[in-house]
Parts: sequence; structure tokens; C-alpha cells
Amino acid sequence: MIEQNVKTLLKEIPEFNKFGEKITLVAAVKLQSAESINRAVKAGVTDIGDNHVQEFREKYQLICGEPKRHFIGRLQTNKIKYLLGKVDLYHSVDRFNLAEELSKKSAAAGIVSNILIQINAGNEQTKGGFSPEETCDAYEVIKSLPALNVRGLMAMLPFTDDEAELYRLATLMRQKFETLKSVDKNIEYLSMGMSGDWKICIDCGSNIIRLGTTIFGARNYDK
Ligand SMILES: *Cc1c(COP(=O)(O)O)cnc(C)c1O
Repeated sequence: MIEQNVKTLLKEIPEFNKFGEKITLVAAVKLQSAESINRAVKAGVTDIGDNHVQEFREKYQLICGEPKRHFIGRLQTNKIKYLLGKVDLYHSVDRFNLAEELSKKSAAAGIVSNILIQINAGNEQTKGGFSPEETCDAYEVIKSLPALNVRGLMAMLPFTDDEAELYRLATLMRQKFETLKSVDKNIEYLSMGMSGDWKICIDCGSNIIRLGTTIFGARNYDK
């Protein structure tokens, strides 16, 4: 039950993290029907995040209630044009050429795009993003691009039951975030936490969590 899941979650998620920052729930909507997404929005979800450009386009006109739009998936540069001006926050800027193209196309459209720099917290081969050690260098380069507004970091954590390791990596990400925040007042968001680890992430200072399964149930990849 989507409505019940949302209600339970909104009660369970604290309003603020321990740093006094407001916590935002983003519904991860990959593979969900427009109908399911609209039910979540009606039940109180204010922000939704897409992974696939094709799905984003197919459902764009069908989403009701004007939720804030996030893009959280791997983005090919040739598909930026379909998202320009329609995404409030890009979480998944995971490489320099994507940042450059997004800036170039945003400038051509006369807009500034809000982005997060994606960090591959566990340095996993299967995941994109900069390594934690590269955070500050990546920030310096991307910050210099004219039509991007860097708003923070998005962390990809490993899928693991090892809570100590998750705490270690989430704390490391919070430290990287603090470092940027101390020099740039536009740095506001640390997007970290999925269905399996969001409580740990909030404990460590995340202020955006991206939940799919907890809201919609297990995804059906056969469709
Ligand atoms: C699918 C996805 C999520 C949500 O995953 P769940 O485990 O279903 O909560 C969060 N972030 C990204 C980038 C995703 O692709």
C-alpha cells in the first residue's frame, strides 16, 4: 500500500538531522507507473527522482501535483536536452564531461542548473562518481563552470549489511560535505541513503534520502 507506506515513512523520518538541517524525502520512481507515482504524491511525497530519461519523458505530462523533480540516474550527455529546465536538482554529476556538457547546454538555454557532485563512497568498480579523495578537486573544477550551481554532494554507498562500514563511509561523506560547506554558502545538500540504509545515513548527517522500495515495494524488472 503506497499511501500507508508514505504515511508511515513521513512519521518515521525526523524533520531535521542532528545538524538542524531539514530532511527531504525523494521518492525514487524508476519502473513505477505514473499512477503509482501520483498516489505517492497525493499521500504527501513532495519530491520525486528519476533514473532513466526515457521514463522521465514518457511520464512527464502524467505527473500531478507538481512535485519537485530530481534526476538521480546515470545521465548520457546526448540526453541532457530532454531534461533541461525540467529538473530542479541533478544528483548524479559523476564525471567532468557530463558537468561540462550540462553547463554548456544550460548556458545555451539561458538557465543555471542545480547539481550535486556524485561520490562513489566505497570506490566500487560497478558505480560511477568521483572517489571521496577527489571530492575537493572535482568541486573546484565543476564550480568554475558558468551555468551550474553546485549545491552539494550525492553519495553512493555500497550494498552491504556491514553497519560499521556504512557508518564509516557515511561519516566520511559528511566530513567532505562539511569541508565544502565551510567555503561555499550554496552548499546545502547531502543526498545519501536508500531503503536499506537511510536511518544510518540520517544519523550521520544526510539531509536528502532517496527511497524506492520502502514506498513502492520491490521493483518489477520484467516489465
Ligand atoms: C533506485 C535508486 C534508489 C532507491 O533504491 P531503493 O533501495 O529501492 O530505495 C536511490 N538512489 C538511486 C540512485 C537509485 O537508483
